[in-house]
Amino acid sequence: MHKKLNKQQKKQSFLSSVPSVHEILDLHEIKKLISKVGQQVVSNVVRMTQEEYRHSLIEGNKKQFGKLEKSLFVDRVIEKALVESQRSIRPIINLSGTILHTNLGRALLPHQSIEAMVEVASQTSNLEYNIEEGSRDNRDKHIEEDLCHFTGAEAATVVNNNAAALMLILNSLARRKDVLISRGELIEIGGSFRLPDIMKSSGCKLKEVGTTNRTHIEDFVENIDSKTGLILKAYTSNYTISGFTSGVRESDLIKVSKNRNVPFVVDLGSGSLVKLSNSFLKIEPTPLKKIKMGADLITFSGDKLVGGPQCGIIVGRKELINKINKNAMKRAMRCDKLTIAALSEILKLYKNPDTVVENIPTLRQIFRPKKEIRILADRLLPLVQSNFNQRFVAEVVCCESQVGSGSLPNKTIPSVGISIRLKSKSLPKSGLLKKLSKAFRELPVPILGRVSGGSFVLDLRCLETEDIFIKQLEYFPSYWKK
Ligand SMILES: *Cc1c(COP(=O)(O)O)cnc(C)c1O
Repeated sequence: MHKKLNKQQKKQSFLSSVPSVHEILDLHEIKKLISKVGQQVVSNVVRMTQEEYRHSLIEGNKKQFGKLEKSLFVDRVIEKALVESQRSIRPIINLSGTILHTNLGRALLPHQSIEAMVEVASQTSNLEYNIEEGSRDNRDKHIEEDLCHFTGAEAATVVNNNAAALMLILNSLARRKDVLISRGELIEIGGSFRLPDIMKSSGCKLKEVGTTNRTHIEDFVENIDSKTGLILKAYTSNYTISGFTSGVRESDLIKVSKNRNVPFVVDLGSGSLVKLSNSFLKIEPTPLKKIKMGADLITFSGDKLVGGPQCGIIVGRKELINKINKNAMKRAMRCDKLTIAALSEILKLYKNPDTVVENIPTLRQIFRPKKEIRILADRLLPLVQSNFNQRFVAEVVCCESQVGSGSLPNKTIPSVGISIRLKSKSLPKSGLLKKLSKAFRELPVPILGRVSGGSFVLDLRCLETEDIFIKQLEYFPSYWKK
């Protein structure tokens, strides 16, 4: 009886020690917090924290009974408010070894593009306005001339992404008609990009030609009739069919398409505006090459090998681009001013071939010399190592990066990383590696590595913010050191 009463008293004392909203909002450190994250967030969090403590009481967590320290409460409020006010979309450090990762936002923009975006975002602009004439203008004027210059095309336009570009072309040129495509090219990209579905939504009928692994030029010739809208060549980007295959030569297809007056359209996916190569990597084919071969329209993504903002670039014959521009669908797919501003600056950077690799982050990361990455790895190794006890081995290792997003699917780029693994081979490690990769992901700026062959690897090819990486290591849980 006595004991029960005592407990009741303790509960009461605890409840009355939960600070009021007023009391908390008046504190100096909370005022500082409000200036950082706003009154709304802090008020909500204070109420949530009050609830949390009262709830813990009802749940009967004995440790909480007794007087509640106000400083403890305040710490909890600050911690929660900072989490609450965190942006939903925020930076992460990509050490996965995949340079263009769709889930991680693909290409990083050069500062020139970022500055142009900030300028048009914060000020009114001549997006669709002809300053000289004082009249309405076309937003494509900011990019069309340069796109034609780099691709050798007569005309160009842009829409929100390459999938949109393809839908727009199909709908503009082949609605209610057949689209001929080689059976082996029925690609599926990323899981959400299915060519057959895109065809259907665009109002076209897919006509597969040939068999999965063998398609001949005769297959196309036989299938062209008055219902044929266009011939589509899609670059298989996340897989290749190897072995006994026989693709139709593109030059032959182009000949047939010209003969029969059917447009030949290439979905290049990841086109590059320049031909670049070094000893281990060759970037091709370029839209320029395809235009020279005689393709009528080419589409490619702005945020893959171009290294620019998300957009779908369409280049090719003027007559066809005009048709596309007249389609009402184009209006629904047009790019915003930020994209136009960013792309326009990217195109300027391509005009100087000597500095283009250095200036465009995607190209810089693709061509970053292994030697440079190794020096970085050697420098960072001791800092990473110091977070782990004797049971772990952290070492500099060779690894392979890839471009990603379907660009150059079969090529890997020799790279250098830091690998962390268990010293003893006998211990079960898959669970531990999962835990380790989670610990890196839970840092204030998450670090993304990859688990590969019994170790956790941080591929340093894409690490260009060394200071932020080092800062994160300070937050690494001490558990791994014990
Ligand atoms: C990536 C890709 C697409 C889709 O491009 P998005 O810009 O992501 O819409 C379509 N076709 C091919 C061949 C691709 O590689």
